[in-house]
Amino acid sequence: MNIHEYQAKELLAKHGVAVPIGVMATSVDEAVAAAQSLPGPIYVVKAQIHAGGRGKGRFAELGPDAGGGVRIAKSVEEVGEDAREMLGNTLVTVQTGEAGKQVNRLYVTDGVDIAKEYYLALLVDRGSSRVAMVVSTEGGMDIEKVAHDSPEKITTITIDPDAGFIDTDGAKAAETLRLSGGLAEKCSALCRSLYDMFVALDCAMIEVNPLVETGDGELIVLDAKISFDSSAEFRHPELEALRDPSEENPIEVEAARHDLAYIKLDGNIGCMVNGAGLAMATMDIIKLNGAFPANFCDVGGGASKEKVTAAFKLILSDPAVEGILVNIFGGIMRCDVIAEGIVAAAKEVALDVPLVVRLEGTNVEKGKAILAESGLRIVSADDLGDAARKIVAEVRESEAA
Ligand code: ADP
Ligand code: MG
Repeated sequence: MNIHEYQAKELLAKHGVAVPIGVMATSVDEAVAAAQSLPGPIYVVKAQIHAGGRGKGRFAELGPDAGGGVRIAKSVEEVGEDAREMLGNTLVTVQTGEAGKQVNRLYVTDGVDIAKEYYLALLVDRGSSRVAMVVSTEGGMDIEKVAHDSPEKITTITIDPDAGFIDTDGAKAAETLRLSGGLAEKCSALCRSLYDMFVALDCAMIEVNPLVETGDGELIVLDAKISFDSSAEFRHPELEALRDPSEENPIEVEAARHDLAYIKLDGNIGCMVNGAGLAMATMDIIKLNGAFPANFCDVGGGASKEKVTAAFKLILSDPAVEGILVNIFGGIMRCDVIAEGIVAAAKEVALDVPLVVRLEGTNVEKGKAILAESGLRIVSADDLGDAARKIVAEVRESEAA
């Protein structure tokens, strides 16, 4: 789960990390009132969306010359003007994709006198199976470019989970950032607080970009992106309130409610599968046949008829879907149960796109019989290759028609 910058900063402040003061706003009036409550005279108005690159982003509705998603305002009036332009409009950044994201919330925050911008992130490093701190002097808006062009400017420090965060880890971070004296100490303390918070809240990532050295020698977090490990969500009911459903794919949210794994993709063939391996193989073979999956929905090992029905409806609720391939191996799951679910769902939603079903495993003959006797136009397939060829051909045909 991802959260907004203003929420991340509230959590950081609670864990003893220095952040600029700011207030969240959902309307122009709120933004103006927020600015009035801040000391000024410089304010920063920041679009709150679950994507980075806001500073260099552009509003689809405003044209290339208008400001981006992070704006410096020199008066309360200017904050109001920026809020009016940003709220309700679509911000496109390198991380949102072309469709962009609608800005529904703003963060009005104190303007900070920046002397230097650094990069600091904590994440789970799968290679070392540890939490790693990624540190670089090249903070600001182009860390992806730094990673690509000059990876030597990025240092990774892995934290030993047995020892926890030790002084040497903090010292290494400070050294990487070429900080000394009081600033080095502040850096170490900040890294320790971030690590403690990372572990306490089961984070997947805390990315601070930029971490800023101010004109008066403070070290503060100017931008923060936090995501949580979804497998540990049950341990943190208090974090549930931070969820912003408007930032999530509605079909993925609905899938989670049914305990289904649903992933939205870019193509036009919807895929219902059981098991991640079969999902990957199904997508590969669709691509091999020259088409692209629109999504895949993994119904898991022991799905019920109701679950299959829910999965089917979810796949169809995506307007990009022009055909469906069901590829299920009935091991624990029985093919006749799957077939019943498919037939029930197809009848309920008045299926109007081609459907190819490949079943294999327990009760496969019974399953195929249920499909054949359903009176629905369901194309049966015998193996993976056959199934992919058939669905690709069906979709092409219906496109041509
Ligand atoms: P993003 O990473 O989405 O572009 P940031 O919050 O990192 O958004 O803002 C982009 C840049 O805007 C920062 O690198 C910084 O230079 C400037 N900036 C952001 N917040 C402030 C602030 N409170 N005061 C001064 N400058 C800021
Ligand atoms: Mg940033």
